Amino acid sequence: MADLARPARRGLMLILSSPSGAGKSTLTRTLSQKETNLDLSISVTTRGKRPSEIDGVHYRFIDRDAFDLLRQRDELLEWAEVHGNGYGTPRKPVEEALKAGRDVLFDIDYQGTQQILEKAREDVVAIFILPPSMAELRSRLVRRAEDAPEVIARRLDNARDEIARWSVYDYVIVNDDLGAAYESVRAILVAERLKRSRAVGMADFVETLLAEKVS
Ligand code: ADP
Ligand code: 5GP
Repeated sequence: MADLARPARRGLMLILSSPSGAGKSTLTRTLSQKETNLDLSISVTTRGKRPSEIDGVHYRFIDRDAFDLLRQRDELLEWAEVHGNGYGTPRKPVEEALKAGRDVLFDIDYQGTQQILEKAREDVVAIFILPPSMAELRSRLVRRAEDAPEVIARRLDNARDEIARWSVYDYVIVNDDLGAAYESVRAILVAERLKRSRAVGMADFVETLLAEKVS
């Protein structure tokens, strides 16, 4: 018998995007560690691995031929060229998680967000993270110390184009204080999980509730 105290619900896709350095990887990592029933989508990328990254944990690092093959076989839910590298979301783990009623968390750019929005608007919650200032964005990229100076310069150049896409998103958060930004993301997830349209088992639950006899 289904758990009547918890009506069945459809899984949602929670997307976090931002210009590079605004803090979305930090926020996605914390969220996926602290939240239950939330699978982190591991993207494939043709970019080189950073010193702190682990293959299969942060990304699956693949070469261009393997990336092109995944695209040709339609095994990517979305894909994009970002800062000169290919990035994409493997389709199968996402479909399996949603089917099982689990939510999926994505750290992807606005191009990927647009593609997923076109495919499944109702199931998507899209959040954009902004830096408090361009100067702070630059110093975070420098402090992170994982990219070469020319890579940082390229990412800063691209930041204005990415920020200009902010209106594609359902929610916008300025990541000044990391703890406050995390609480905002969490509040959005909690509220979106309770949305009536996602509670596919709610009609049955209410019917059972109304039929219950109490003395
Ligand atoms: P992104 O994934 O958007 O490129 P990261 O999550 O890697 O960004 O964050 C970039 C750097 O800024 C990291 O070193 C991170 O620890 C730091 N950072 C993130 N949020 C804040 C914040 N609110 N205040 C100060 N530093 C931050
Ligand atoms: P980074 O190289 O800093 O890890 O990521 C660069 C950008 O690529 C970020 O904006 C990140 O959100 C985006 N990105 C990472 N994975 C994917 C993906 O699978 N698809 C798309 N469209 N963008 C991605």
